Amino acid sequence: MKLIDEILTFNEQFVEEKQYEEFTTTKFPNKRMVLLTCMDTRLVELLPRAMNLRNGDVKIVKNAGALVTHPFGSIMRSLLVAVYELQAEEVLIIGHHDCGMSGMKPDHIMESMRKRGKSEAALDTITYSGVDVREWLKGFDNVEDSVAHSVKMVKKHPLMPNDVPVHGLVIDPRTGKLDVVVNGYDDVKFI
Ligand SMILES: [Zn+2]
Repeated sequence: MKLIDEILTFNEQFVEEKQYEEFTTTKFPNKRMVLLTCMDTRLVELLPRAMNLRNGDVKIVKNAGALVTHPFGSIMRSLLVAVYELQAEEVLIIGHHDCGMSGMKPDHIMESMRKRGKSEAALDTITYSGVDVREWLKGFDNVEDSVAHSVKMVKKHPLMPNDVPVHGLVIDPRTGKLDVVVNGYDDVKFI
């Protein structure tokens, strides 16, 4: 059975049996926070469980590496929407050890693109359009530094309210252990 058929078959039964009932909640986070973390498969269930988070507790934004790379990209917009419109009062950025974005080699990805049929001309066109693909695909060397950098981007963002604590943490994808990189309460201007 194809993946999507498998999902749809399961889904039909899920709805039929009203299994959704135990997940009923609102769009506002009970724990008043928004969390940015990595799309890593190991964190799908482990991270919420390790943090005692259940459906309805938190807004979660994910991308590769838990990175805030652009001050006006979709990640930053999501965090701002969570704060201004959805009652999130604190921001948590959670990177993890052994992340795929750590030490990622742009040249390796570009080689894979070529193997999958992306032409040199296509890559050239992007480059000549002013996009530095290598830079865009670059990950990070050190997860603590990366988390601290993302915290700074969010904390110093001109549209982020000053009284919102922005915390930085790193999680172990095997044990779920959290380590604090930046304690957002140390740097909050309470109004
Ligand atoms: Zn990751």
